[in-house]
Amino acid sequence: MILRAAWVVPVSSPPIRGGFVRIAGSRVVEVGEGRPPAGKDEAIDLGAAALLPGLVNPHTHLELTGYAGQAPAGPFWPWISQLIRLRAAPGQVQREQQGVRDGAWLSLRAGVTCVGDISRRNLAWRVLKGIPIRKVCFVELLSLADDPPRNSGELRSELDAVEEDALLTAGVSPHAPYTVPAGEIRAAVELAHTRHRPWTTHWAETREEVAFLAGQPADLPPLLTALMAQCGVMSPRLAPMECLSLCTAGLAPGLLAHVNYVAQEEIAVLASTGHSVVYCPRAHRFFGHEPHPFMSLRRAGVPLAIGTDSLASNHSLSLLDELAVLDAATGGALGSAELLRLVTIDAARALGLGDRIGTIEPGKQADLAAFPCDARGDPVAALIAQAPAASAVWVAGERVV
Ligand SMILES: [Zn+2]
Repeated sequence: MILRAAWVVPVSSPPIRGGFVRIAGSRVVEVGEGRPPAGKDEAIDLGAAALLPGLVNPHTHLELTGYAGQAPAGPFWPWISQLIRLRAAPGQVQREQQGVRDGAWLSLRAGVTCVGDISRRNLAWRVLKGIPIRKVCFVELLSLADDPPRNSGELRSELDAVEEDALLTAGVSPHAPYTVPAGEIRAAVELAHTRHRPWTTHWAETREEVAFLAGQPADLPPLLTALMAQCGVMSPRLAPMECLSLCTAGLAPGLLAHVNYVAQEEIAVLASTGHSVVYCPRAHRFFGHEPHPFMSLRRAGVPLAIGTDSLASNHSLSLLDELAVLDAATGGALGSAELLRLVTIDAARALGLGDRIGTIEPGKQADLAAFPCDARGDPVAALIAQAPAASAVWVAGERVV
């Protein structure tokens, strides 16, 4: 099959005006300019469109899609208390399974062909397995929870239950250093390391978390503090990145969500570890955090990516919407090519999929998204400014939207 479009944006090289992509089976076999000889191939002319690698959202919780708009914007702790109440209501499992389904299709229609999705009860992968989206299904370890997995033994069983396939990779996610004891975080990362699977965690998300880790008085909700003590979550009396080293030294690097609060001197330490950081600009704004250290992390060479987090703290699952906010917040300092990399190849690398997706190149999977675009100038800048829905989407060479 040959796809022709007004613009082809390979990401690994500059946009091609009047380009084409030839696909055989699940893979891209040729990328070029002009009209290729069609031969036996079916040719589809997408017209005034930009054809991009499918976008990659490395941090989301699709099971929370159904809670959109139900916990008000504002500080993190009241929000999470409200979310816990919502999640405890009867019918939760069905509601969250439906949320995974809805969230996956919202993502595909926004041109997102791969998600790094975190699931609390490990229910998402069963739903996602039947949906033609590429996914890393992270099983979430939460020691404070009523349901498994609450420790690394239960995590191992849940990880073993995930049925991987060509589009589905299993991973693990110890939730955060205030909800999982440090020893259990390390055991979870060791599990990922020995199985050669990706891992992710929420780290340095709030000021209160950082104070707790340092052994300073932390203004955490009293109920949470009591649960933490009960579950053996103790302060390591360390800065966030020192605590992270304790949990991950000598093991394969992972993906840290947020890292909103990190001291300047810790950023060099972080850069030396190889961990990636996923920043979620609109969720960050939703919680009213202080400005994110994104530009300092970038200067230090920390691998970065952009994600949406869940619809319980965001207005859409569109990564183009996310880039528009990032572009404004950074005063246009990044340029359209770098912005696009943050939601394609950089995000793919952060999920351990950089050799398979994230660019349009021969040999890579044909995960592609076409967006309406009649720009004469920079097509990527036009897409970020307008954030349209995708007009057509392919995953592993199959058209899904
Ligand atoms: Zn999250």
